[in-house]
Amino acid sequence: MSTAVDAFIGLGSNLDGPAAQVTAALECLAALPDSMLHARSRLYASAPMGPQDQPDYVNAVAWLRTHLSPHALLDRLQAIEHAAGRRRTDGQRWGPRPLDLDLLMWGDLQIAEERLTLPHPGIAERAFVLLPWAEIAPAQSVPGLGRVDGLAAARDDGTVYPLSVRRHERSAVP
Ligand code: ATP
Ligand code: CA
Ligand code: CA
Repeated sequence: MSTAVDAFIGLGSNLDGPAAQVTAALECLAALPDSMLHARSRLYASAPMGPQDQPDYVNAVAWLRTHLSPHALLDRLQAIEHAAGRRRTDGQRWGPRPLDLDLLMWGDLQIAEERLTLPHPGIAERAFVLLPWAEIAPAQSVPGLGRVDGLAAARDDGTVYPLSVRRHERSAVP
């Protein structure tokens, strides 16, 4: 069998019990065929991107070692979103959702198709992706962008925190 590819997935939810949604989705990722969940970040809290009249998000990043092709993996991610109640038909862009699974990277593959763009185009601007990612894979290099830890440091505006860090302790988080 060919060697597994490192794939990174960004998880987000702000509806229907976000922390439980993200935790359940991580379990779904761990159960994917021809794949192994190598690492997962803690759960993080972040303010919404885009429309502000929606609840805060819970985010995490998962590191998968997989033999699935990138498109097959995207199909699996969308099936998990659908099972969580995600429907794309009536949603506004970046509107509230019970589950969002973005494929951040699949090996070093770079493609720009409407259905699948890799690396995911939002990575460099999003602290809610970069901080949890830096927790599990700081030295990971993102094609065209550089190391995850450097990107995270550049985007850390002090608003994205692990859920387990209490509010009064937050300014002390490195
Ligand atoms: P954003 O992509 O800016 O985070 P979003 O997650 O809200 O926004 P969605 O509505 O979840 O966007 O996805 C829109 C489409 O993006 C999907 O139908 C999917 O085919 C496509 N897509 C392209 N590249 C990727 C990727 N790397 N990961 C997930 N979906 C992608
Ligand atoms: Ca997204
Ligand atoms: Ca998405």
